[in-house]
Amino acid sequence: MKSFGYAAHDKKSALVPFRFERREPGPKDVVVEIEFSGICHSDIHQVRDEWGGSIYPMVPGHEIVGHVTAVGGAVTKFKVGDPAAVGVIVDSDRVCENCVAGEEQYCIKGAVETYNKLDYEGKPTYGGYSNNIVVDERFVHTISPKLNSAAVAPLLCAGITTYSPLRHWKVGEGSKVGVVGLGGLGHMGLKFAHSFGAHVVQFTTSESKIADAKRLGADEVVVTKDAAALAKHAGSFDFILDCVSAPHDVNQYLNLLRLNGTLCLVGLPETPVSVAPFSVVANRRSLAGSGIGGMKETQEMLDYCAEHNIVSEIELTSIDKLAEAYERVVKADVKYRFVIDMATLPKS
Ligand SMILES: [Zn+2]
Ligand SMILES: [Zn+2]
Repeated sequence: MKSFGYAAHDKKSALVPFRFERREPGPKDVVVEIEFSGICHSDIHQVRDEWGGSIYPMVPGHEIVGHVTAVGGAVTKFKVGDPAAVGVIVDSDRVCENCVAGEEQYCIKGAVETYNKLDYEGKPTYGGYSNNIVVDERFVHTISPKLNSAAVAPLLCAGITTYSPLRHWKVGEGSKVGVVGLGGLGHMGLKFAHSFGAHVVQFTTSESKIADAKRLGADEVVVTKDAAALAKHAGSFDFILDCVSAPHDVNQYLNLLRLNGTLCLVGLPETPVSVAPFSVVANRRSLAGSGIGGMKETQEMLDYCAEHNIVSEIELTSIDKLAEAYERVVKADVKYRFVIDMATLPKS
């Protein structure tokens, strides 16, 4: 199937228009015409080969929203015209114990990511900065037409990445929860934790974000350079979601956990995290991590968002402004996620 999008051809150059082929849809496949594609910080890491092993040409994008234009004969979940969404993975072996448990993101064989990966036939996958995508229906989600579909796109990565650990560690009424960093991930973690009924403390380096954090649901905001303000919360949190993707000191957050509390990393700093043993030995604390969510939980999150009217805070941009958007994401100068309006993709 003919596809058209924007691709990086090496780690230094700007993304440029790129014509390529996707597989012809099989019996279980859904063809999604892409309307909106979110810009995730990990797109930039991979375009620039900052994690190593990048495959070029690379069409990034794993926060994909559009509508169905064709379905294979065995598809049951979708019909032509339905709104649909695709996230970070497009396949897994479906038979290992983790897949059977609905945790395809932790597939033992290795899930196939939406771009910058080889599928099980050895062909590169291409993501959402393009006009269409072909995906097995198991990895395609239904979305509610009630929500602003551009603002739904970031739920497919930033949304599920924060929703899943908050659910796993049973955050809810009576929990005291911290969210570290108010960016693409952090603002979704804040919205979900608030919606689940927790008492939420937002940690930020920037005084300019205090008002926004409160508007998005924070009960308290702590500016992290204020050591006295941090110390006031020592030993008091049940759970802290660390959404920062730049190197930072996790010990100052571990020390805020109460007995059996957990600090969960969802950001991906490029350098190893250094932990003072006393930070975890005291109060029998856990340092954990979590990556996206399974297909069932991703659908549950999208349904929850429709029911509770939760979407991402976005700035809509156009495909010809990618370079500018990337620079602003790297500087954390976006409130809080860029989404590309794919109608701006040239028609030919
Ligand atoms: Zn992402
Ligand atoms: Zn598996």
